[in-house]
Amino acid sequence: MAVQRGRHFLQIPGPSNVPDRILRAIDNPTMDHRGPAFGVMSREILQGLHGVFGCAGPVIIYPASGTGAWEAALVNTLSAGDRVLMYETGWFATLWRELAGKLGLEAEFLSGDWRHGADPAAMEARLREDRDHAIKAVCVVHNETSTGVTSRVAEVRAAIDRAGHPALLMVDTISSLGSMDYRHDDWGVDVTVAGSQKGLMLPPGLSFNAISQKALAASKSARLPRAFWDWEAMLKANATGYFPYTPATNLLYGLREAIAMLEEEGMANVFARHHRLAEATRRAVRAWGLEVLCQEPQEYSSVLTAVLLPEGHDADVFRRITLEKFNMSLGNGLGKLQGRVFRIGHLGDMNELMLCGTLAGVEMGLAAAGVPHAKGGVQAAMDYLNGNA
Ligand code: PLP
Repeated sequence: MAVQRGRHFLQIPGPSNVPDRILRAIDNPTMDHRGPAFGVMSREILQGLHGVFGCAGPVIIYPASGTGAWEAALVNTLSAGDRVLMYETGWFATLWRELAGKLGLEAEFLSGDWRHGADPAAMEARLREDRDHAIKAVCVVHNETSTGVTSRVAEVRAAIDRAGHPALLMVDTISSLGSMDYRHDDWGVDVTVAGSQKGLMLPPGLSFNAISQKALAASKSARLPRAFWDWEAMLKANATGYFPYTPATNLLYGLREAIAMLEEEGMANVFARHHRLAEATRRAVRAWGLEVLCQEPQEYSSVLTAVLLPEGHDADVFRRITLEKFNMSLGNGLGKLQGRVFRIGHLGDMNELMLCGTLAGVEMGLAAAGVPHAKGGVQAAMDYLNGNA
């Protein structure tokens, strides 16, 4: 491969670009995770996470990828044979469902078309049918990273309440937390699942469960086996700033810095920035004459945009050419979208000029790959970002 200079453009929808400040924070000597300085740091982090999740209750940190936190949410609250209601928003909802099945849960899937978010009305109808309350949990992916479609979590909560159903509400925010408005407490979520490598701007390796009092109560009678993921042991150790096993110390240095960066900018500004970059991206896609996969404007993702290629054009060939010629990684199509879409990540430590560079790379890549398109996508994005559109 030819030597490439300058920064690689990592424009997949996570892992996202890690800011230098966070890299520098991680690049410190590992400290004694049972010593006094560590206890002070982790108490500060556990406190700071409340503002990020919008919660007053506990947030658990695992040294694991997001999949671990998916599993933790289920094994701490449910028992073998319990029914969970999930919604097929895309590839990640499908994986979470498979994981639930492997744990011995009865995972029921409401089918979706991968172009819309979870349908609150369909969920309400199913919950109303469930008169004996066999369904113990409702699981929704907030930002479906495979499609760039979000689900309206507050409306799902309202649907559960209208049905008068006691099921727990679990939400995967692995790719939305720290990028899009999310409110664990206000939206009545029982378990929020999150990961480090997207809006939190950290490398992969940490994941989270934010827990409501109702979820905590459910964990007392839940019977699925759990050891590594056990909330009880974590909460006991966390109360004094420690962990039941060796934590990912250096990633925690990075997490402390990430929380400081989010607080400095202000969460509302973080969300507005992501919204602006996403809107500019959609304007570029439309100017190219291509189609945004998400079909419902109120469900557009601010984190990524999935773009459909015209029939007969392979998105993976386009991505390969863009990587080789312009040193930029774009997200691939997952599951049934393989080869049909590419995904532009515009999350985390991103600004206007990084986005313009990204969109220029896409526009040049489309031309290089012979994908039919109109010119002027980057111009449309620039006009919007400059307030001229
Ligand atoms: N859920 C969503 C929405 C994701 O985007 C991902 C990963 O990208 C996962 C779950 C799985 O997380 P991980 O790959 O960190 O285990």
